[in-house]
Amino acid sequence: MSTNSVPTQTTPTSDATHHRLPNFSAGPATIPTAVLSRAQEELLDWQGRGMSVMEVSHRSKEYMAITDKAEAKLRSLMSIPDNYKVLFLQGGASLQFSAIPLNLLNGGKADYLTTGTWSAKAIKEAQRYAALGLGEINLVATGKDSNFTDVPAPDSWNNSDNAAYFHYCANETIHGLQIFEPPQVDAPLIADMSSCILSQPIDVSKFGMIYAGAQKNIGPAGLVIVIVRDDLLGQASEWCPLLMNYAHQADKESMSNTPPTYSWYLAGLVFDWLEEQGGVAAIGKINQQKADLLYKTIDDSHFYSNSVATQYRSIMNIPFNLADSSLDKVFLEESEAAGLLNLKGHRDVGGMRASIYNAVSLEWVQQLVDFMLAFEKKHA
Ligand SMILES: *Cc1c(COP(=O)(O)O)cnc(C)c1O
Repeated sequence: MSTNSVPTQTTPTSDATHHRLPNFSAGPATIPTAVLSRAQEELLDWQGRGMSVMEVSHRSKEYMAITDKAEAKLRSLMSIPDNYKVLFLQGGASLQFSAIPLNLLNGGKADYLTTGTWSAKAIKEAQRYAALGLGEINLVATGKDSNFTDVPAPDSWNNSDNAAYFHYCANETIHGLQIFEPPQVDAPLIADMSSCILSQPIDVSKFGMIYAGAQKNIGPAGLVIVIVRDDLLGQASEWCPLLMNYAHQADKESMSNTPPTYSWYLAGLVFDWLEEQGGVAAIGKINQQKADLLYKTIDDSHFYSNSVATQYRSIMNIPFNLADSSLDKVFLEESEAAGLLNLKGHRDVGGMRASIYNAVSLEWVQQLVDFMLAFEKKHA
């Protein structure tokens, strides 16, 4: 559907030259306009060198300055302690579903909590390695009975003694379910933070490992960031591909082979942007405001609903249903015509979903809310 009919006053954050529209995509997701503009400025002639970042050796001094700075910025934004390695790897978050057991299972037992599609995929992949005899995988609990709208009470979890690690997904992007407090378990905690990294302050020291695909809150797809505590390195299975081996990649500063150089550069620009916004605490406050505004609109109406247990409602991905699902199609057509993009819910859940990552401004969420109220008035 064409968005040409959008009157410019409904898109205050887009400007005449760029025509950027409110994009609520779950991923790949919107990237701050300032970051894209800077990349555009530097595209043909990066820092007067007569070439782009894409065209230089990853081992050149100039490029290494970019990666060093990106890592330093991320360490500062997240207050990552010195005894953690920060790796910039390939294969997205999904390859980590394999890398984790291959690096850390080490003949032992690993605990997995299932709270939605992504944590279910992680355990499924890990089970393949258990089937090969690399160790045991234990499902501690699943939220399936609630259709993943709730998390089983921690005192009902079936944790193993001496687990090699405990894996969970901090924010289930599809179901819109977020676990805000790190689970209190004895095993090293591993969190998939693909869709919530850098969205609010966290205490990294509570985790053994954090990983996140870049395409939600950081930058282009394909890149994955792994933050792993030193003592967990060096126990990888012989079957672990070298490129997935954390100790090896740490030793090679994530350059065992040619890294995704341009994605890494863009991630660095996003970190610069985030710092300019005041850092994670500042953006976290805005994220909370955005989520509060949207949930209030949903809860105040009988026209819209969200069924996730209140304490687990995601501040990044907000699915919602229309009471009359025969209006779904009209909602999507009219929202798109109003310049509000990518609100269709995931096919597993249906309805709508607004993903409101760091780069989605409060103004954009306000525009969405205004649209929702007007739509309700018109169709209720
Ligand atoms: C998007 C996402 C993934 C998968 O990321 P890929 O980069 O496509 O592998 C995994 N986990 C979560 C929580 C996600 O949101």
